[in-house]
Amino acid sequence: MKRPLVLLFISLLALLRFEPISSRPQGTELALRPRAFLPLAFIALISTWTSYTLSAQPVIEQIRVWPSPQNTRVVFDLSSPVEHSLFQLSNPHRVVIDLPETEVDADLSGIDYSATQMSGIRFGTRDDGGLRVVVDLNQAARPQSFSLAPNESYGHRLVLDLERDAITAVRTIDQVASAERDIIVAIDAGHGGEDPGASGPGGVREKNVVMGIGRQMQRIIESTPGYTALMVRDGDYYIALRDRAEIARQSRADIFLSIHADAFDQPSANGASVYALSDRGATSERASYLAQKENRADLIGGVGDLSLRDKDDVLASVLLDLSMTATLDSSLRLGAAIVPQLDQVTRLHKKQVEQAAFMVLKSPDMPSLLIETGFISNPDEARKLSDPTFQANLANAIFGGVRSYFERFPPDGTLIASIGSSEPRSYVIRAGDTLSEIAERFGISSGSLIQHNSLSSSSIRVGQTLRIPAS
Ligand SMILES: [Zn+2]
Repeated sequence: MKRPLVLLFISLLALLRFEPISSRPQGTELALRPRAFLPLAFIALISTWTSYTLSAQPVIEQIRVWPSPQNTRVVFDLSSPVEHSLFQLSNPHRVVIDLPETEVDADLSGIDYSATQMSGIRFGTRDDGGLRVVVDLNQAARPQSFSLAPNESYGHRLVLDLERDAITAVRTIDQVASAERDIIVAIDAGHGGEDPGASGPGGVREKNVVMGIGRQMQRIIESTPGYTALMVRDGDYYIALRDRAEIARQSRADIFLSIHADAFDQPSANGASVYALSDRGATSERASYLAQKENRADLIGGVGDLSLRDKDDVLASVLLDLSMTATLDSSLRLGAAIVPQLDQVTRLHKKQVEQAAFMVLKSPDMPSLLIETGFISNPDEARKLSDPTFQANLANAIFGGVRSYFERFPPDGTLIASIGSSEPRSYVIRAGDTLSEIAERFGISSGSLIQHNSLSSSSIRVGQTLRIPAS
């Protein structure tokens, strides 16, 4: 739209025989003479008209492909919204999308079909001049299509989801039935695919940062006896918010941790925070603002047929009331175990677990937390959050909290329940700490802390390491 507007402006300028009020003397070659401008005006008007009519026809500007275990998502970036119709053909399997007259200006050469059910994309012109898009498949897939409105990251889009067979989509975790089972920690790296999440200086993207932290957590958890990690998102693709907990639930996860990195208008905002669900309003203005922001992910990442999905809401809210209270208590305890660990590796926004209505945490039967690991909009934190060493520190801290929680509340039938507290816990004293505060954080008495560390008084010094007895 910009070019036509500029051209229109030039032609109007010329037609109005515009002459600048200048100090230039009349009659010199620099003076603007109306006559010389008439041909220019004509050309400009014609260009305006042509580029207007050209831009009126939609253009497919780019095609992006996001394979995931559940589906393959094909995103067509469009210059303007288009109506479309979709049908399937078999032998060989293919999906056909018909559009009105549409120009194709997308580069198909870079598309990687390897992890998808697709073998190619072709275009043809129909008798009525419309565009036919043929997506060739190497296996049957259930197609679903919908349009997405522009957002901060992308313009108008047409989305084609090719769902895989349900059997391959469910991830099962091998557990020997008779043996003591592992505790399963579901790691939900936020955003992904179409939804980059927050952006920071130098093009740092939340979806990549949180995947880095998630992978570090996965590595640490897998090397710890008694624990197994489940990556809810296992690559660069988007999963609808309410499907995330469902994936964890189907794999019988014991807890659900959604990992994020925040952004704010003011680059100075910093610090990590831990959030649990609240159905009765947020604990702070900030928590409520953040929940609204994170809940918008479905609009950005793209979820088809939102109206259909919301029919589950009545049932969901009943379930929520029945068992949410107990789960919420566990979530708050889990959060309280993670907060002091995070406090040792990064700045904290608040020293307690906050609550707000995060859609991704609405799981009635699994303690669930959303952890904002820091502010990607803060140049210092963006740099740290992108650093694998810092990511590992965060991962260690979060999992440290998870372990201390499960050592106190091990689920029945797990290895952790049978061996009890595995390793002694420790805490390094920081400026401002008091013995009674530390004791409270770990759910023990000051007396047992003094006794366990053979302290002569309750005075402690910064840098001193305390051994934390089992509670
Ligand atoms: Zn986020």
